Amino acid sequence: MPTPARRTWTAIVRILERDERVFAVLLAVVMVGGLATMGLALRPRFRIDLPSLVFWFAAYKVGILALVSVNPSPRKTRVVFSGALAVDLLLIFALLYLTGGYDSLFYLLFFPLIAVNAYYFGPWVGLASAVVAGLLYAAAAVLTPPWVGWNAVILLIGLVGLPALAVGLGANRERRARAEVERLNAELTGTLTRLRAAQDELVVAERMATVGRLSLKMAHEVRNPIAAIGLNAELVGDIVKERQGPDMEEAGSLVSAIREQVSALDALTEEYLAFARFPRPQYEEDSINEMVTALVEFIRPLATRQGAVLETTTDQALPPMAIDRTLLRQAVLNLVKNGLEALGGKGHITVSTRRVDDHAEIAIIDRGPGIRPEVAKRLFEQFFTTKPQGTGLGLYISRQVIEQHGGTLRWESVPGQGTTFTATLPIKRTQDV
Ligand code: ADP
Ligand code: MG
Repeated sequence: MPTPARRTWTAIVRILERDERVFAVLLAVVMVGGLATMGLALRPRFRIDLPSLVFWFAAYKVGILALVSVNPSPRKTRVVFSGALAVDLLLIFALLYLTGGYDSLFYLLFFPLIAVNAYYFGPWVGLASAVVAGLLYAAAAVLTPPWVGWNAVILLIGLVGLPALAVGLGANRERRARAEVERLNAELTGTLTRLRAAQDELVVAERMATVGRLSLKMAHEVRNPIAAIGLNAELVGDIVKERQGPDMEEAGSLVSAIREQVSALDALTEEYLAFARFPRPQYEEDSINEMVTALVEFIRPLATRQGAVLETTTDQALPPMAIDRTLLRQAVLNLVKNGLEALGGKGHITVSTRRVDDHAEIAIIDRGPGIRPEVAKRLFEQFFTTKPQGTGLGLYISRQVIEQHGGTLRWESVPGQGTTFTATLPIKRTQDV
């Protein structure tokens, strides 16, 4: 368990961890320390109030640290540090000028300043700063004679510039190595995360596969009894129809209620099975117009019963094309059924086909309530349904089938006005998508 003190310390280290902050702190320590040390060697004849200079210099360095801490953009930080380097160089120049030019010891401050800056800016800025330092030294000497020649200047440039070059090169190398380590680390973390996600998915997938096999078996097993119940209910209906009397009337409506439930159950298992089997499409030349017309005829009684009007318009320019009729019919049927269910009673649905360049479009347009945004987000999710008897598989299956045909399924909806689902299929399918 880390103690509170240790935690504070860790937090401080964490804050300082960023390169810019480390640099700002190092530079502040080195420069303020250097300036303070100079106080020991300063001759009394120069009247500079060194303690307060050290104080204000320290305050200015804290300001720089604050500036790079609140403003983390690397470009701006670089600008701040460049400005600080210029200010520091000029400050040393001023001190040199005030304390006797060549005679002054303040030129020593160039060493720590440029060495630390070379760590941040790299070898070339380090070297250039050393040259600038030499020139400033010379300028201070010229302004406060006597001028004693270039030797000391060249000495300064060499003794400051060469270590700066070395420090800069070392720092660059280290930065490159660290960037590489960080890159590898990120890569490794990404791989690990993906691996873990894949493992989790595998566990879920295995469980789903078992559940899937079970439900497939279930759906399969109940289909025959459902069909038998439906058939028997139909027979009972016929018998009841032949008899007269109020009891028989009631029996008749009960039987048709049973038949309705049975056909709902049948449709439900059909959808589950279509989902679970997911056969590979068998493509054959066929007419989409014919398929749509037949489908509309098939479902019209259902629409009429709920008071809805089902219309169809077909574009004769659509040529026969390679489709899996059974699967595509199922896909369109799901969309038409959704439209009817969205109307919930009276209303209007149009199923239309259209040729657009080298594509066939099948549009299912309903004047229902539209799709709400929170439903829209999850529309194609497996098992997502807003209906008490829904499977939540219809749209998923439709889209899958249409995509297997190399097409796309898109939708538009205006709340309160209706919804349009449009399947776009290429007339010439590129091989096996
Ligand atoms: P299900 O029909 O079994 O609910 P679907 O995948 O076919 O599953 O549809 C998912 C959901 O999308 C539906 O429950 C419904 O809320 C919404 N939806 C689909 N089509 C329409 C439509 N034409 N109008 C309004 N909502 C729709
Ligand atoms: Mg549906």
